[in-house]
Amino acid sequence: MQALIRHLETQTGQSLQSPRFSCVGGGDINSAYRLQTANSDWFIKLNRADLAAMFSAEAAGLRELASIGTLRVPEVICFGEFQQHAYLVLEFIELGSLNSWSASLFGQQLARLHRQPQAYFGWPIDNTIGSTPQHNARYDDWVSFWRRQRLGKQLQFAAANGYGGSLQTQGEKLLERIGDFFSDYHPHPSLLHGDLWGGNAASDHQGQPVMFDPACYYGDREADIAMTELFGGFGRDFYDGYRGEYPLDAGYKTRKTLYNLYHILNHLNLFGHGYLSQANAMIGQLLAELK
Ligand code: ADP
Repeated sequence: MQALIRHLETQTGQSLQSPRFSCVGGGDINSAYRLQTANSDWFIKLNRADLAAMFSAEAAGLRELASIGTLRVPEVICFGEFQQHAYLVLEFIELGSLNSWSASLFGQQLARLHRQPQAYFGWPIDNTIGSTPQHNARYDDWVSFWRRQRLGKQLQFAAANGYGGSLQTQGEKLLERIGDFFSDYHPHPSLLHGDLWGGNAASDHQGQPVMFDPACYYGDREADIAMTELFGGFGRDFYDGYRGEYPLDAGYKTRKTLYNLYHILNHLNLFGHGYLSQANAMIGQLLAELK
């Protein structure tokens, strides 16, 4: 760690006196540490050097979220490669649970982020969802983006992982019909967090909401809201806050499954067979809506 500290001193131009390292738990993919010194308090994620692009994309997402400024995200200090490691250094934020007030504020602030129209669907660079590659080409048409860059890609990964059969045949049918879910709904591109499950949002010690670990792209805001519902944890105050600021379309109830299917397919690809029946059931449910 001494060598890393010297490297970070060179990178940031800061002198890191009396450094104290501690491990931070809770991450899915990276090892994480807190580095406290006389004049800094940093959160450091480490992984293999070949995963450096994952951290540079995360940094780009955090910086873009910060530039819009509606919601607190950790400040990016620096990122790069050192010896066999890739690293991302962020401001350390003392995190706690969202209470009723901060959850409502989080909903409002996320809605304000989503209300800002972006220029296209996609994103300037590719990133990752979990550890899976997430491709972000530039599209003017959301339906094509969701078909080709999101569901289609995860179905291809699933085929390569040996999940053929009805997942693929039914999945193909769904891909052809995605446009039917958008006959009277035309979303504008919003900057999305992209991986907004309960483990990626919290509050700081003043109760201000914070979100972190994004997989940003410009997309339909419903995709972010859908993911908040996938594993639970956000509570009624959050949704009241969001809807009060920026109401959702009635068709969200159906499209929610279309959006969360992406994450369930990703879980199938990352964690295996346990997610297959859920993915099949979601595809079946969506196709049944179209009959
Ligand atoms: P991973 O990319 O491995 O999933 P996360 O970015 O989710 O890692 O971080 C792991 C845990 O560390 C989070 O669940 C959160 O509790 C904590 N954490 C994340 N970012 C910060 C930060 N900037 N300051 C303090 N703690 C953080």
